[in-house]
This record gives sequence, structure tokens and C-alpha cells, in this order.
Amino acid sequence: MISSPVAIIGAGFSGTLLALQLARRGVKPLLIDRAEAWGRGIAYSTGDPAHLLNVPAMKMSAWPDAPKDFAETANLPEGAFAERRAYGDYLRVQLEQAVADGTVAVADAYAVSAARSDNGWRIALNDGRGMQAEQIVLATGNGSPHAVEIPGWPEDDMVQDPWSAETQARLACAAKENWPILLIGAGLTMVDLVLTLDRMGHGGPVTAVSRRGLVPCAHQTPSIPLPAPELEEIPERLSHIVRWLRARGAHGNWRAAIDSLRPATQALWASWPTERKARFLRHARPWWDVHRHRIAPQAAAIIDRWSSEGRLKVIAGRIREGASGKVTIGLRNGGLATIATMLAINCTGPNERITESGNRLLRQMLDDGLIAPGPLDLGVRADDDSRAGENLWALGPMTKGEWWEITAVPDIRVQVEKVAAAIAACI
Ligand SMILES: Cc1cc2nc3c(=O)[nH]c(=O)nc-3n(C[C@H](O)[C@H](O)[C@H](O)COP(=O)(O)OP(=O)(O)OC[C@H]3O[C@@H](n4cnc5c(N)ncnc54)[C@H](O)[C@@H]3O)c2cc1C
Repeated sequence: MISSPVAIIGAGFSGTLLALQLARRGVKPLLIDRAEAWGRGIAYSTGDPAHLLNVPAMKMSAWPDAPKDFAETANLPEGAFAERRAYGDYLRVQLEQAVADGTVAVADAYAVSAARSDNGWRIALNDGRGMQAEQIVLATGNGSPHAVEIPGWPEDDMVQDPWSAETQARLACAAKENWPILLIGAGLTMVDLVLTLDRMGHGGPVTAVSRRGLVPCAHQTPSIPLPAPELEEIPERLSHIVRWLRARGAHGNWRAAIDSLRPATQALWASWPTERKARFLRHARPWWDVHRHRIAPQAAAIIDRWSSEGRLKVIAGRIREGASGKVTIGLRNGGLATIATMLAINCTGPNERITESGNRLLRQMLDDGLIAPGPLDLGVRADDDSRAGENLWALGPMTKGEWWEITAVPDIRVQVEKVAAAIAACI
């Protein structure tokens, strides 16, 4: 049985950075994930040059103490939005170096179960191996999207995983034939797929459907920053917060108003009662997401061009039913629309609800009472130090219920640094 002081489950950005941070502190962790995901995870595994980071390169350093590290390593000017695959390379190279130096160990496998033992934890891998670790870190990241089912729509014409190699192949076929395509969801995943179709020279119509029909806004550089507010300055009621943000962002500077909330967002979320968090998810989240998680100007220019040429139509509504070659949509403002389509793609985004996760390890740990769902069933429950239990930690999107804004690199790297220091102190 392999034994390690710390087993990190998941080798995306969160797990990889924690491994590197621990190595800096003289602790040799074991990082567990399938080899192709090492350093890249779900977010940076794309090989498509059209997929861009949605945060400027200057803010994407893995290292809080070297904020320009990524931009300088990749030789990018201020304000540039790099290809996501370049960011995956940046992380992967650092991980490979640490593995070559013998400061980080890796296991090419999936963790399928974990149980407490005398010395900490016993972990079973999908290849039959067993591991022993004093501490476990859950860095399992973005869950696969919920499967979408459209009554009457042929299952074979529905793509559930927008990130798989098979999806790229199906998009290439669809682009060759200029098929009409339906994208279910109008957020960041929809943007990625339109960028891919644009690169492939797709000439057919694309329809995106979401409940509100909101599309991510564009970054604008350079933006004029506003000072961060004190927590007490931020109104309590959601409707008042929106009004307050509008006033702060007057004269067209709404981006700066939203960005200025960043240092306070986690504390604000943590201070809200559950009922206000639930109301935020129900009513304000779509609005928050498109303003807060913006896209690169180049990506926005392609979306705008497709829209103005009538090749991309974004509809606010719900899909009611389908039949071969068409779907019917109940429009948000009333009435029905019938759309011709040959292929439907699930762009609803990562599943954040742990109780609905298809991840075998998380399900087992939940069933055995080793982890508990986070607030509103988002991720896992964790304390202020990201501890999910005794000798158990959680990182990144896994802690979304506790912190809300903990999915992007600038937020996760701060959390990772704190967790690395805390783990190193107890080894
Ligand atoms: C498509 C996409 C694009 C994004 N773009 C940006 C961006 O431009 N800028 C930004 O700041 N943020 C971006 N994000 C946000 C992203 O969540 C974070 O930047 C970060 O990548 C999260 O890393 P993670 O390691 O927590 O999760 P993930 O990247 O989801 O990685 C989790 C890893 O855990 C592994 N895993 C899961 N279960 C197990 C198990 N049981 N055993 C072993 N391994 C397991 C998975 O295989 C996966 O490799 C993006 C997110 C997505 C989904």
C-alpha cells in the first residue's frame, strides 16, 4: 500500500496548486487524477485554440506572491486574454517539474472510496490499488452537467458532455453539413461552443435557449477601478444591492462597480442568512453571473458578429418537447416557438449540487457521513479554514456553498495558500 502525508484528490488547478504549495513547504503530497487531467483539470484541458481565458492573463498567476508570473511566462502583454490551453500548459509544466524533482508524487487513477483508519485515511483507487494518507484534500472541482432530457427528442441527437473529444468530432460533422444546432444554456459554455463552431467555419443557424436569455458581458480594458467597499456599506436587501451597484457604477462604469465587490463577496455571502442566499440563487444569480464572469473582448466580438448576422439567436424560455429535426420552446414572455435543429448540446454548466453528483467517491463519502452538503447543497460543508472534517479539506468549486465566489483562479489561489500553510503546520 502506498502511503503519503497528504493525498490530494483531483489534479485540476486547485489540486495542482496545492501540491506545488505543499512542495514549497517541504511536504511531499500525492496527487490523484487521470494522467491527461494533471495540471489542467476540466477547465484547462481544452485543446481548442478558440477557447480563451475569461480573466486577463495579468490576473491569472498561480502564485499570489508573483502576480505577473503567468503573463511573463507566456510572454503576454497587459490586458491580453490567453488561450485556455496555454494556461493548462503553464500549470502542467510546473507540475511535471515538481514530479521530476521528486517533490510531488502522482497517481494515474480515480479515487473511488475513502475510509477513516488508525493513521488517517485509506483510499481505494479504480485500478485496485490502496493508499494510506494522514490528510485528504478534496479538489474534485466542477461536476459533470446534469443530463438534459427533452421529451420526444432522439437521445442520439443529444450531446450531454460539451467538453468531450466526441463532442468536438460531432461539432466538426455538424459544421461540415451546416446543420442547425441547439445549445441548451446561454452562459460561458454556450460561448465556447459558438467560438468552436466559428473556428470550424459553421454556416448553419445556432439557437441558444436559457430561462432568462442572458449572455455573458464582455470585459473592457482598461477599466477604471473603484475602491472596495466596507462590508457595512453594502445594503442588506438584494434589490437594494442592485440599486446601490447601479449608483456606484454610474457613468458606464458598472464593470468597476461589480469588480470592486470582489474583496467583500465571500464575507458578504457568508454573512447572509440561508433564505437570502436561496433568494439570490432564484432571482439574482443569472444577472450576477453574466456581469461578474465576463468574457474576453475577442470572444464577445464573435458572439456579437454572429448575433448581428442572424446566425446566433438567443431565446429566453424553456424547451417543452422535441421531435426529430425540431424542438418547441415555451417563450418567457408567453407563446411558443418551433426551432429546426439537428443536434442539441447540453450547455447548462457544471453540476454544483453534491447530493446529485455522479462522482463515486463523493457519493460514498456522503453516504458514509464523512462529508456533508454545503449551504444550499452547493459543494461540501467546510469551516473558515476550508476543513471539511478531521484531517479532511476541500478546495475551489467544492466550497462554493461556503464562499460563493471561489471558482476563479484569483480566489482559489488565496484559499490554496492558506490551506497549504495549515496542512504543513499539522504534518
Ligand atoms: C470550461 C471552464 C472554463 C473556465 N475558465 C476560467 C478562466 O478562464 N479563468 C478562471 O479564473 N477560472 C475559469 N474557470 C473556473 C475554474 O473552476 C477554475 O479556474 C479552476 O480551474 C477550478 O479548478 P479545480 O481543480 O477545482 O476543478 P477542475 O478543473 O474541475 O478539476 C477537478 C479535477 O478533479 C478530478 N477528479 C474528480 N473526481 C475525482 C476522483 N474521484 N478521483 C480523482 N480525480 C478526480 C477531475 O478529473 C478533474 O481533473 C473555468 C471553468 C470551466 C469549467
